[in-house]
Amino acid sequence: KPIVIITIGMAGAGKSTFVQRINSYLHTPTPSNPNPRPPYILNLDPAVTQVPFDANIDIRDTVDYKEVMKQYNLGPNGGILTALNLFTTKFDQVLDLVEKRSQDVDYIILDTPGQIEIFTWSASGAIITDAVAASFPAVIAYVIDTPRTTAPATFMSNMLYACSILYKTKLPFILVFNKTDVTPHDFALQWMTDFEAFQEALAHGGPGSVDSDGEPTYMSSLMTSMSLVLDEFYKSLRAVGVSSMTGDGVPEFFAAVEEARGEYEREYLPSLLKAQ
Ligand code: GDP
Repeated sequence: KPIVIITIGMAGAGKSTFVQRINSYLHTPTPSNPNPRPPYILNLDPAVTQVPFDANIDIRDTVDYKEVMKQYNLGPNGGILTALNLFTTKFDQVLDLVEKRSQDVDYIILDTPGQIEIFTWSASGAIITDAVAASFPAVIAYVIDTPRTTAPATFMSNMLYACSILYKTKLPFILVFNKTDVTPHDFALQWMTDFEAFQEALAHGGPGSVDSDGEPTYMSSLMTSMSLVLDEFYKSLRAVGVSSMTGDGVPEFFAAVEEARGEYEREYLPSLLKAQ
């Protein structure tokens, strides 16, 4: 069975570029991947003006979000959310189409709206995620803007966001540290595996980490406690560094996807079957 890669990420993290990169990787024979099969791509972003890849199913073919905005008198975010809701009412038909093609593909790539919360915190996003994960093995690829996450506080809020998505979907999860051509992701791996290294970075977090008496501030002790929570979270996920620009790290990403397939079968699927 093909595995579904659900790509999400903050606007600007490089999600579209990443999807384009893994798509082209799956079109190009390499020594590590001599017989690639092109993926099946679903675009769920109604507001994207141009996608740098050919989507097999595109929400924009079904709903015109600008029309939706006009008709329901909505702003852009309301328009995108309503377009996604309308599309979700037809999602069983979409799944039928995907099922029909599932013999011919190894990967199904789901590209989500650029405003991350529209997918991660909406009923439609949850319905689509659950429906997909009930039919196929599925994994979340959470794309991170590595150069913009080098400050300890930013890093931690990004990890907390990832953590909340992991606990909401319960699906296997890959942290994709993107743009490693600009900033290598070793600092992130170190912070995730070595608690003291992260404490050290926090302590040198510059002004604000200690008050005038040299005591840790509220912010810094809050971060210390939260990073203890995250330590637990780090154990349950995989992290890879990629450059969507150069293609570096893409084979490692697909290795992580294969691992995630195993986790889906061991952990997600049994609890799904139990719930039914
Ligand atoms: P999205 O909003 O998450 O879909 O982000 P885009 O794919 O549009 O990328 C945002 C910006 O980051 C664009 O200017 C991209 O060219 C740039 N970008 C994306 N991936 C990489 C990368 O791996 N390396 C570098 N240097 N820039 C990247």
